[in-house]
Amino acid sequence: MSFDLPKAFKDFDEARQNSFIAMKELKESGKKVVGTFCTYSPTEIIKAAGAVPVGLCAMSDEPIEEAEKHLPRNLCPLIKASYGFALTDTCPYFYFSDLILGETTCDGKKKMYELMDDIKPVHVMQLPQTSEGEQSFNLWKSEIVRFKERLENDFNVSISDEDVKSAIVERNNERKALKAFYELGKMVPPPFTGSELLSVLYGAGFKFTSEAITSSLEEIRENTLKDYEAGNRKVSEDKKRILITGCPLAGATQKLVAAIEENGGTVVCFENCIGIKSVEDPVDESKDPFDALTEKYLNIPCSVMTPNNKRGEMLERLIKEYKIDGVVDMVLQACHTYGVETHTMKKVVNGVNETPYISIETDYSQSDVGQIKTRVAAFIEML
Ligand code: SF4
Ligand code: SF4
Repeated sequence: MSFDLPKAFKDFDEARQNSFIAMKELKESGKKVVGTFCTYSPTEIIKAAGAVPVGLCAMSDEPIEEAEKHLPRNLCPLIKASYGFALTDTCPYFYFSDLILGETTCDGKKKMYELMDDIKPVHVMQLPQTSEGEQSFNLWKSEIVRFKERLENDFNVSISDEDVKSAIVERNNERKALKAFYELGKMVPPPFTGSELLSVLYGAGFKFTSEAITSSLEEIRENTLKDYEAGNRKVSEDKKRILITGCPLAGATQKLVAAIEENGGTVVCFENCIGIKSVEDPVDESKDPFDALTEKYLNIPCSVMTPNNKRGEMLERLIKEYKIDGVVDMVLQACHTYGVETHTMKKVVNGVNETPYISIETDYSQSDVGQIKTRVAAFIEML
């Protein structure tokens, strides 16, 4: 699916498309690469090891048929695509990765990593089932230390507390720049369309140095504001302001953003892993670096945690801050945790000034595009 993006936004789109060349150059310069799949991945530790983290969360349905030769058909498309890209060796980032970082989030993913380990070395971090309590804190902290030791071993480096601290500062700067940019979505009308916002959020993950990410985000924010202040409006004020929550979104599932934008809505906030969820809070720079990382990552409000009250709290706040007219919850087929959580999220969303809510279940195919458009159009019409 292609969107007509102005130059500044295209830069992020191109960063994603061309990033495998940048990655190849990094490898040729001797850098190690660690492929990650989840927002719980403590990328600061990878950076502290002098290596480059790259997100592998596969977003297309191309390799799914091949993956289904090993995996059940009735499995989340994100897991099947992730495994499929590895199996068919068609993801350049997987190809360049020296180590893959997995984590025990949902059952499908953690079992898939066992199979993936036959293709490339996978290090799996044991994520606690709850983010609450001392036991969970201690377990996750020891897992972060164990991951550090794995990198030291595999890459023959030594990682000091100072290395971790400076990686924390770097990543915090990226988060700050990303947050300053997406918070422009609070403006009425917003200065960008939802697909432009998504292309920046998604594309930022494919720039491999902190300086590149931070400076290009600052630049695009400045230009976007200048343009807006000069009176240019690309989204009309009467468009309904939509927040998307739920499973990770990009690639094949951009069909949902397109359906919203073609039917009288505009997405001003993405409360999922591609969006606000992971970058909303910084890592506390004043604490012991391992304590601070443990705290930060355990606080991510993902449905794999039980309980997961923080997601509801975050949604309540975002609905008010972004003046949301309606919430669309995207659930990938066979994702049990997000699927079950829709009941609670509907209650939370409706509880904020009776904000309307809709849950849309989908996969990576384009076969339900028409059906999604019909449902989204009816939803937006009643806002
Ligand atoms: S939704 Fe949860 S499991 Fe999936 S990438 Fe985000 S944090 Fe990880
Ligand atoms: S979307 Fe759901 S099922 Fe798929 S990987 Fe994430 S948590 Fe697991």
